[in-house]
Amino acid sequence: MKVAVFSLHKFEKDYLLSAAKGKHELILLEPQLSLTTAGLAEGCKAVCIFVNDDGSKDVLKKISALGIKYMALRSAGFNHVDIKKAYELGMRVARVPEYSPYAVAEHTVALMLALNRKLVVAHNRIRDLNFSLNGLTGFDMHNKTIGIIGTGKIGKIVAEILHGFGCRVLAYDIMQDDIWANKYGVVYGSIDNVCSQSDIITLHAPLTEQTKYIINRDRIAKMKKAVMLINTSRGALVNTKDVIIGLKSGQIGYLGLDVYEEERGLFFEDHSSDILQDDVIARLMTFPNVLITSHQAFLTDTALHNIAVTTMENLDCFEKGEECKNELMP
Ligand code: NAD
Repeated sequence: MKVAVFSLHKFEKDYLLSAAKGKHELILLEPQLSLTTAGLAEGCKAVCIFVNDDGSKDVLKKISALGIKYMALRSAGFNHVDIKKAYELGMRVARVPEYSPYAVAEHTVALMLALNRKLVVAHNRIRDLNFSLNGLTGFDMHNKTIGIIGTGKIGKIVAEILHGFGCRVLAYDIMQDDIWANKYGVVYGSIDNVCSQSDIITLHAPLTEQTKYIINRDRIAKMKKAVMLINTSRGALVNTKDVIIGLKSGQIGYLGLDVYEEERGLFFEDHSSDILQDDVIARLMTFPNVLITSHQAFLTDTALHNIAVTTMENLDCFEKGEECKNELMP
């Protein structure tokens, strides 16, 4: 099958070509899928997209008119695709629900440790031959209280790792898993209870109408003073402007982000020769207690291999007209 692969990054190219194994003809395209670039899919039967491509109603109508029957997402999240519209257009859509929850969970803990022990500041100092320890004091993770919002695949692994550190783990989820929680000493509570008691709060819920801005001015006000907030899930779980106010007042003591609500067009790209137009992320980058990575939590060899293999399996099912276990339904 001829597949237009949008947002192709150098880091994933070899994994995709190897997984396609000559079964699918991949048209490798660097641009993101959008109304402007949709025409590049002409002549293909499927499109394959990444997290920041535009799968909104108008784009779907345009690619459907070009003859696109299938959409394979190289991601677990699917908030960027109008699944209902795709279904109405008769377009089958599948995602990669799980490729390595360990990759994301481990990156989440890496952000926590790097912020706590001020590793970036320390590294930069040493390069300037400044071997002073002043200002680098951290805290023991042991015995600290961690609040996990969303105990699905990734949230659970974060909880298990931190249980291993000797942390007290609290959690909030609309679907509690009490058997798992008992095994790791995790205590479920309301979101406000979890937020008010935790030294570190980490977000692992999908972006939905209910979770948009789940971290906002009111909730930040109820958190412990100098709380650490980590978001490796989806940018819009957090109201970034409210978080900046929290950072300025010291209510938020540390912020680790792998995702950002306005990351489309910014993350994954080299903008080092451009003038930064986004004043919100520009302000965030001025805080010494903020650590931002560019949506790289998933980026391990294991995850890239699994994403490529599952994506090709999804396309195989579609081509054969078979049921696909990773298909998204409205
Ligand atoms: P999952 O579906 O396994 O788990 C999500 C959990 O959130 C579920 O337990 C669900 O019940 C819970 N949830 C849903 N709505 C909720 C609400 N309103 N309040 C509280 N909990 C709610 O998902 P996952 O694979 O663990 O992924 C978690 C997040 O990580 C997603 O946002 C996903 O998009 C993101 N993610 C990020 C990266 C990255 O590279 N940064 C990679 C993969 C996934």
